[in-house]
This record gives sequence, C-alpha cells and structure tokens, in this order.
Amino acid sequence: HAYVEKICPICSSAVDDVCPRCEVHGVGYYQREIDLTKLVTNAMAKLGISKMPKVLKGVKGMVNANKYTEPMEKGILRAFHNIYIFKDGTSRFDATDMPITHFYPVEAGISVETARQLGYTKDYIGNELTEETQLVEMMHQDVILNRRGADYLLKTARFVDELLERFYGLKPFYNATTINDLVGKLVITLSPHTSCGVTNRIIGFTDANVGFAHPYVICARRRNCDGDEDSTMLLLD
Ligand SMILES: [Zn+2]
Repeated sequence: HAYVEKICPICSSAVDDVCPRCEVHGVGYYQREIDLTKLVTNAMAKLGISKMPKVLKGVKGMVNANKYTEPMEKGILRAFHNIYIFKDGTSRFDATDMPITHFYPVEAGISVETARQLGYTKDYIGNELTEETQLVEMMHQDVILNRRGADYLLKTARFVDELLERFYGLKPFYNATTINDLVGKLVITLSPHTSCGVTNRIIGFTDANVGFAHPYVICARRRNCDGDEDSTMLLLD
C-alpha cells in the first residue's frame, strides 16, 4: 500500500495531518510543471508502441481526495481500443433488464455442445439435451447479453489482454477474437447508484436490446423486474 506524503496547502511544509503553524489539514497534492512530452514518450516506450492513437482524451481534473491518477499507459491503450471509462475506472454498458427463467440454446446463439459444456445437459423436463431447440431452465447466475453490448465487452477484453501483456508483463487472459469467446466468462452486473455488484456468467447473446437474467439475479441487484436499466462490466476490468 502506498504512503501518501502530505503537505500543508498554505505553507507547503511536509505534515502528518494538520499543519501546526497554519492549523489546516495537509493534502496529498500540489501544483507543479510537468514535461508532458517526456511522460508520453516514456509511456509509449513502456508499451512498445511507436505511434499514438489519433484522439486521446483526458479529464479536467482528478476528483479523488489525493488527486491520484492512473498510469497514462492505460488511457493510451483504451484510446487504441475505442473504449471509455466510467468514473470508477471500469468500462461498462447499460441494458434494460429482462427476466427469464427458461431459454432455448438456439435463441441464445449457442450450440448443444456449448450448452452442455456450460452445464446444461438436461432440458426442463429432465430429458438429455441433444437439440438446440429444447427448452432448458436457466441457472440462476447466468446472463444472456445483447450483441451490441457484447461487442463492447469484446473490445474491453482486448484492452485488458493488451494491458496485461504490454503494461504488466503478464499473459493475456481472454484471448477473445469474437464475442463467442466470451461465453463462459464472468461479468459483474450492477444497478446504477448501488455499490454491490453481482457476479454473473455469460452463456449467450441476443439481438434484442436487453439483458436477460434470472429474476434472482435482478433481485440481487436490488431491482424489481419492471424494466430497469443495469450495467455490465468484465470481471477482470
Ligand atoms: Zn502550514
């Protein structure tokens, strides 16, 4: 955990908490000039890239208490992948909730093999699952995402992988080239203005502009089932 050195905002001396002379609380930031070109050049070198994205947007200022910034490398990679972040630093998309308790694998765009790998081996009356057109009972944690939102999560997955490789020197995690590679992966779904996300598993996609989930999941998000809008983000983001 990083230790934040605080200085008095009036007399600029280093303080633990309250400045004994000025009797004000110390803050974890001060104004100074920076060499932006050098910072950008260093970030590019660290990422191993030679060209910057065409558009790289920043923010007017930090809103956290110590005005702590995230590494510039993350913003550069996000710009390459055309993704944007919410104020908590995650990339997410919103969709209207649609409760379901049963689904046909064919309507979620998945094959029998995929459905079986996900644990759907029997249909709703207990017969072996052999056709995509058999009705199955939805497992409570599963979600079916809309394709447009899934395309956005795919871009986010590529960003996460590039961040892992280029910035953290780790192996990529998602290795996703199409949205189908996201089937079986975990997401966090969250209602706006709540602070408790719910972990869900992607099991398929729909052309409808909604997010299908079991009523238990929607309830866990502190929602009733009357068409509210909730967000979805990748678990690793
Ligand atoms: Zn002072």
